Amino acid sequence: MACAGYGCPPVEVRVMKANLHPKYDVCTVTCACGNTFQTRATVDSLKLDLCAECHPFYTGKQKIVDTEGRVERFRQRYGDRKAGGAK
Ligand SMILES: [Zn+2]
Repeated sequence: MACAGYGCPPVEVRVMKANLHPKYDVCTVTCACGNTFQTRATVDSLKLDLCAECHPFYTGKQKIVDTEGRVERFRQRYGDRKAGGAK
């Protein structure tokens, strides 16, 4: 047993590993902005909230990603103070 460590798995494991690679195929990515593009991944399709077409870094515009409505709730709770505040 000179070779039973992690670096040297039994022969059966080494043979089986050829079939352990997940499917890595063309994947259609759909962004919340409507942009779609294709890449390669282990799933058929992906949904994004941001992509290179709409990410602020690329567009230069500010965009708040408000998927769960948290920003909207914050504005409803605190936004009015600024609008009708003491001036
Ligand atoms: Zn996008």
